[in-house]
Amino acid sequence: MAVKFGPEYVRAIAPYQGGKPIAEVAREFGLKESDIVKLASNENPLGMPQSARDAMQRAVADIGRYPDSNGFELKAAITRKHNVPEDWITLGNGSNDILELAAHAFVQPGQSVVFSEYAFLVYALATQAAGARAIVVPSRQYGHDLQAMAAAVADDTRLIYIANPNNPTGTFAPAAELEAFLRKVPEHVVVVLDEAYTDYLPAELRYDAIAWVAKYPNLLVSRTLSKAYGLAGLRIGYAIAQPGITDLLNRIRQPFNVNSLAQAAAVAALADSEFLARSASVNAAGYQALTKAFDEMKLPYLSSFGNFVMVQVGDDDAAGARVNLALLKRGVIARPLANYGLSKWLRVTIGLPEENAAFLHALKTILG
Ligand SMILES: *Cc1c(COP(=O)(O)O)cnc(C)c1O
Repeated sequence: MAVKFGPEYVRAIAPYQGGKPIAEVAREFGLKESDIVKLASNENPLGMPQSARDAMQRAVADIGRYPDSNGFELKAAITRKHNVPEDWITLGNGSNDILELAAHAFVQPGQSVVFSEYAFLVYALATQAAGARAIVVPSRQYGHDLQAMAAAVADDTRLIYIANPNNPTGTFAPAAELEAFLRKVPEHVVVVLDEAYTDYLPAELRYDAIAWVAKYPNLLVSRTLSKAYGLAGLRIGYAIAQPGITDLLNRIRQPFNVNSLAQAAAVAALADSEFLARSASVNAAGYQALTKAFDEMKLPYLSSFGNFVMVQVGDDDAAGARVNLALLKRGVIARPLANYGLSKWLRVTIGLPEENAAFLHALKTILG
């Protein structure tokens, strides 16, 4: 018998499967990269802001030096945006970094973490990597059942993850429900409110979770520059929480977890309200185009508050994988969801008008 390394809970982890890269699909299916449409990873179809590109170009000159470990300029930009003190901010190598840091900082092996069925898969991975026990609460119409989640908190629960809006379902919990939930959670349980898609919310649904941070010392709000700010490849996100939480995250993070190009780009992007508004309006128009076509094709889909839509592409449990493969052959990369237990569904990222049209054309051909 070969030696088995590491604890059983690490060996049991199923690696995260991201969207297939364009180059890989080109190789596997003999396609030209320029003919491929990638709508698989909720990336911004506008690419990066020009302001961020310019800032990185200036920052390249200093790349021989380590980044600023404390991210002074970037924290100052976040302070300006959210009006919070600098010691409430933790920078992350993507918000994924923040989600993992939270599990390692607040949960011991054997203790439990609460999250929802169909919530972002990284919550399950981070829980498992920490050797913790997952309490997965059944969803309500594919979204978070916040009352059931509050009731599911056990004596040994130390952390709760909530994505609002959620990925991959696109569901949204209104502010009043969230705050009622926060009032119920015991004060020693950390709540991570993952707001990766908050910049796509229409004005009437917006709420100020950062203001709640002042009221709830156990609340951590997580944000990313990967989606509406168009910087997914740079890996940059941040957490806002009171010092009781922030201080611990900053002790266990890598000293240089956010690289210097990412810091420079993020400072520029956070100030680029024009780009942010354009991201939201391209997304809103694309959502209309996709859902109108799904209506015409009589395909069930979930109303989405993010930059993607979950659509049911058949009635059998192989439907998602089958349609996904057929799309790949036609050069369209979407996201199958069998690993979420949603094998009849695909998640498609909202793209540029021509990308949405290419996806819809391929989908109509495949489904007849
Ligand atoms: C995309 C996404 C993130 C952001 O990931 P990064 O590591 O910041 O790129 C976080 N949470 C959810 C729910 C997401 O869908």
